[in-house]
Amino acid sequence: MNNLLPGLRKFSEHVFPQQQKLFESLSQGQKPHTLLITCSDSRIDPNLVTQTNPGELFVVRNAGNIVPPFGASRGGGEEAAIEFAIEGLGVSNIVICGHSHCGAMAALTGKANLDALPSVKKWLGHAQSTKKRMETKYNDFELHHVVEENVLVQAENLKTHPSVSASLSLGRTRIFAWVYSFETGSIAVYDPKLQRYLPSIEVREESEKDVSRFAI
Ligand code: ZN
Repeated sequence: MNNLLPGLRKFSEHVFPQQQKLFESLSQGQKPHTLLITCSDSRIDPNLVTQTNPGELFVVRNAGNIVPPFGASRGGGEEAAIEFAIEGLGVSNIVICGHSHCGAMAALTGKANLDALPSVKKWLGHAQSTKKRMETKYNDFELHHVVEENVLVQAENLKTHPSVSASLSLGRTRIFAWVYSFETGSIAVYDPKLQRYLPSIEVREESEKDVSRFAI
């Protein structure tokens, strides 16, 4: 609280007045262009890393940026938020963003004892396909590989949601897979054509030509 309360005051007295017009317009409603699904990790600041303003990103966060397949969580929060973003808000992009040093993904590889965290253990059950993919594709369980594969698995899970599949088939939405690296501040973007993640500098050059090539 010693950090939070002065922050609240600084925001209302100094930051808010500088962007008052933006905040006033947001009181009329939201029209975000992107649904961002990322990890709850405190080191990720979605608006900071994408340099976007409030109102641009509709964000779903949980441990491991996991999207349970449709029906698997019996109408859980993820399902509702995804449906609302697509049907209610009409977002045109869905981004799943994993990150370096992800604790949830480390736990998935068995490197952490989850006996005292039964809910986390259960939640990670939704990422078992990631584990299976690792076993068939790699000889190791290198964390950065797990993070990268998990994003792709969750993108597949996302497509099992009726609102997403309908929107994809109508060409109204695109899905992108990202991995954010704390140590470099860069975001790697998955290229389905090359079947690998490209560093942000290459992505920028390619995006200028055609951003849709990164849609998966
Ligand atoms: Zn994480």
